[in-house]
Amino acid sequence: MQNLFIYNTMSRQKELFRPLNEGHVGMYVCGPTVYGDAHLGHARPAITFDLLFRYLRHIGYKVRYVRNITDVGHLEHDADEGEDKIAKKARLEQVEPMEVAQYYTNRFHEAMDALGCLPPSIEPHASGHIMEQQQLVKEILDNGFAYESNGSIYFDVEKYDKAHKYGILSGRSLDNIKDASRELAGVGEKKNQADFALWKKAQPEHIMRWPSPWSDGFPGWHCECTAMGRKYLGEHFDIHGGGLDLVFPHHECEIAQAVASQSDQMVRYWMHNNMITIDGKKMGKSYNNFITLPQFFAGEHERLERGYSPMTIRFFILQAHYRSTVDFSNEALQSAEKGLQRLMDAWKALKRLTDGQKTKGQPQVEMKYVDELREKCYEAMNDDLASPMVISHLFDACRTINTVIDRKASITAEVVAALTEVFSTFAFDILGLQEETGNSNKAREEAYGAVVNMLLEQRQQAKADKNWALSDKIRDDLAALGFEVKDTKDGFTWSLNK
Ligand SMILES: [Zn+2]
Repeated sequence: MQNLFIYNTMSRQKELFRPLNEGHVGMYVCGPTVYGDAHLGHARPAITFDLLFRYLRHIGYKVRYVRNITDVGHLEHDADEGEDKIAKKARLEQVEPMEVAQYYTNRFHEAMDALGCLPPSIEPHASGHIMEQQQLVKEILDNGFAYESNGSIYFDVEKYDKAHKYGILSGRSLDNIKDASRELAGVGEKKNQADFALWKKAQPEHIMRWPSPWSDGFPGWHCECTAMGRKYLGEHFDIHGGGLDLVFPHHECEIAQAVASQSDQMVRYWMHNNMITIDGKKMGKSYNNFITLPQFFAGEHERLERGYSPMTIRFFILQAHYRSTVDFSNEALQSAEKGLQRLMDAWKALKRLTDGQKTKGQPQVEMKYVDELREKCYEAMNDDLASPMVISHLFDACRTINTVIDRKASITAEVVAALTEVFSTFAFDILGLQEETGNSNKAREEAYGAVVNMLLEQRQQAKADKNWALSDKIRDDLAALGFEVKDTKDGFTWSLNK
């Protein structure tokens, strides 16, 4: 088993990962609120935790990965007052709220699938876990950390802070939080501005409502993750992840709810991915500066010079460490596209490589090189999922493959096999990249490629027949079109220099 170090937001340092139950990992990641298409900012946590999920499985853990669907209770501006985001969309589009939720859940799944993100083991919906959330609220009330006001239940942050200290994940003190919220609207039903809703009484026009001992209403946004995390992963589990913007208040509230209900914390390691920025500002629905994933794939947005494939987006995100910010630009995406192409070209070339004869004075790619490459890739992954380092090691492998293609080095079949194994493990199994063949351009490219192969096979025949004029003509005609043909011991390779 590898020694994996991950950065724990709680301790603010990298820690050696040790699961609570040997061989098993419980991991909860905050999922989308399904009232609109996922945007680039949503792709980042999905890809970051997909990378973690893939790596944990690769190094031998049995992982239960839970990612929720928020289909109720998330109010506008992440606040305690105002309209439910999904109910609002349903009202505007004159459909059932669950129709909105289902439609955008399906669209979210399609986008995740395109990005090569594996589906989570369990994907619970908030609306399907109302009883579990009511149970959580009841426990917090029974323990004296919540109060009823007008049929709604609020978490008593001040009382909790005295007993347990509120703000430990974000490093904010209650006084800071109160200062920051002083200018905001009055406390309304709450005792203090910092208090947050656990259960909200529904207004008469509110469609999404459930009966409870307190009122007909709906759960507060923070309840679902605590209630569903506990249901599927137990009172204590290993990893809770999400975007850095969720640290406060969402995850802070989750911690308070867990401690107030079961008297200790649920989560061992808190992991957060950094934000995607556009012109230096966080990309988000609330900033109205987002580009959705379907818009990226189709190139349909005024900020996009053209479309970018799902794998280009994935590679673009993996090229940065998950804890650093990534700024969107067309140039950055185009350079990611080139980088990915370089990797995939080397992979195709590697698959065509065969045992090369060692000639005098020619260096040989040694098994030691491949062993070190594998070791360096594991080291990078174990260092808090340093995907940019893994990519840079794979680029190094590309250079090595190209020296063999250029016949400046030779390689044995055994080393080719080992290199193929390392390349495919890290590029495909762990980074989750895929060779993109689905779209029509790629299909056409492949068809043209097959024609070039066909011509070159005829040239092989011409050479075998000692018809040098024909063999040279095929090579020269292809060269005139930009195809560079190289003869190898077993045949040929070619590339298009355009
Ligand atoms: Zn959550």
